[in-house]
Amino acid sequence: MARYTGPSCRLCRREGQKLFLKGDRCYSTKCALEKRSYAPGQHGQNRRSKASDYGLQLREKQKAKRFYGLQETQFRNYFDKAAQKRGVTGENLLVMLETRLDNAVFRMGFASSRKEARQLVRHGHFTVNGRKQNIPSFAIKAGDVIKVKEASTSSPKFKEIKEMAITTPSWITVDTDKLEGKIVALPRREDIDTPVAEHLIVELYSK
Ligand code: SF4
Repeated sequence: MARYTGPSCRLCRREGQKLFLKGDRCYSTKCALEKRSYAPGQHGQNRRSKASDYGLQLREKQKAKRFYGLQETQFRNYFDKAAQKRGVTGENLLVMLETRLDNAVFRMGFASSRKEARQLVRHGHFTVNGRKQNIPSFAIKAGDVIKVKEASTSSPKFKEIKEMAITTPSWITVDTDKLEGKIVALPRREDIDTPVAEHLIVELYSK
């Protein structure tokens, strides 16, 4: 599937918000948004007129899509599935995005960005409940155990993780010695710190 290959920082500047797409750099003074906190492009510094309702909804959808590193079709598919589920569509959407395997690996602290997490998953470094799983969109469930594959534990990347103090959201626990994480429960909306007003996405797609 086609993937955005342009500069990640441009996406944050476009949304006017840190999307944390480049790992450690995002937390440093090298962050492009800290140096140039205006939109990219020739007219980026020009004052903008007030956005329309549609403009606000579109930006919110773009932000969420970019935050999780998805393409339009993938994102739309998630929305359609979320709308078919019981409960609040916007919350269902966020829960589904959070419970992608690549996002869970990132939340476990085993990758510095979702992009890196996706690559690690694709390269087959993880098992879920003892079975190799290399599909980044794989939907994890409560009780699942995500573990670094035995053959990968000696790589410098994962040796480094053993030395790290990792903070995780309440719905995941991590044992760095064992290089594994457990999904204690599915996240609820209040457990998800994604800076997105999901009701605007629902409004956009419900037109
Ligand atoms: Fe966004 Fe990270 Fe680039 Fe800063 S360094 S603009 S947070 S991707």
